[in-house]
Amino acid sequence: MTMNRRDFTRTLAAGASFSAFPFANSFAERPFQEKRLGVALVGLGGYSSGQLGPALQETENCYLAGVVTGTSEKEKIWADKYGISKENIYNYDNYDQIADNEDIDIIYIVLPNSMHAEYTIRAAEAGKHVICEKPMAMNVEECRQMIDACEKAGVKLSIGYRLHFEPFNQKVMDMAEEKAMGKINFIRCGAGYRMGDNWDQWRLQKDLAGTGALGNMGVYAIQGALYAVGENPIYVRAQEFKTIPEKFDETDETVTFQFEFPSGAVANCETSHNASMNYLYVSADDGWIQLDPYSQYGGLKGKTSEGPLNFPQVNQQARQMDDFAACILNNTQTPVPGEMGLRDMQIIDGILSSIDSGGEKVQLENLAF
Ligand code: NAD
Repeated sequence: MTMNRRDFTRTLAAGASFSAFPFANSFAERPFQEKRLGVALVGLGGYSSGQLGPALQETENCYLAGVVTGTSEKEKIWADKYGISKENIYNYDNYDQIADNEDIDIIYIVLPNSMHAEYTIRAAEAGKHVICEKPMAMNVEECRQMIDACEKAGVKLSIGYRLHFEPFNQKVMDMAEEKAMGKINFIRCGAGYRMGDNWDQWRLQKDLAGTGALGNMGVYAIQGALYAVGENPIYVRAQEFKTIPEKFDETDETVTFQFEFPSGAVANCETSHNASMNYLYVSADDGWIQLDPYSQYGGLKGKTSEGPLNFPQVNQQARQMDDFAACILNNTQTPVPGEMGLRDMQIIDGILSSIDSGGEKVQLENLAF
């Protein structure tokens, strides 16, 4: 992939003027789309119920057309709440029949991580464009299979990296691209939360989650570090810590990792399922930028060495889904494609290798994006 974020954003809306803050007005400026694309959410758990369903009431280029659920009680709840017609409600047995449903253009996979690959591949085989939640899959091989299936079917694949559509984080990306603060030297990024007392949840189970904090929240720290410097890392070192080994017996609790970038910049990152953290800090020759919090759904705050940052709070998920729908309608490339999810899984592999080797420096080669 050689197209950078700015190239992608330029392709978004024909006629929308480009600015240093490309997404700020792009939706208002975007020409009216005659067709709104239908989205079906697969998996009606916390994220679909709390964020994606409501966000699809605010989208302009797409709307909530259907759902796929294994829980029959949820069928009526979602049908009543969002006015979804009966024929657009599927379960895991008749999922593949979605191929015949012209109302549904995009399938959004919001299932436990171990189910991402299978349901993405089946969506592609049904001829539907796909958004898959993070982490993209359980391993690099699954990511490749998902990308191949979408390519073969001629459908687009994107990952639910909502922060690429959020103004404070876009500012960080823009400053990296513009080298607005001179040479970037150091990044700190942390994303984590304290898990509740439910020890049975799938996020603690290796066969359903893959990794623990690393895949769940660590992907935000990986992403933050990479877009803050605007480069892919070439080396990583990592360490793992457990303070409640009996709770985190299958998956990681706290992981720290350090990147080295080709420009000489370094990053120190951390993630946890047992500690709250949510910050991104970038130090450069001529200034600094700090977001805290940086990856929540709302309430983001930021400042630079020049003063406070003031951006509107936006519905990140609505922007993310609208952007993907626009990419389909305009046949442009999404800024958060499957290859980016694959790259992050390659980096997770490097982090795990370093942990396994007792913290040795691991080279990151042939990254996919
Ligand atoms: P959740 O546990 O709240 O919901 C999971 C859904 O999957 C439930 O509806 C459940 O019934 C269904 N399911 C089907 N088979 C299952 C099985 N074998 N075990 C457990 N559940 C099963 O999870 P969630 O928070 O909605 O997360 C779903 C996905 O979305 C995950 O991949 C997660 O990483 C991602 N996510 C992303 C964000 C984001 O900000 N991008 C936020 C939250 C979750």
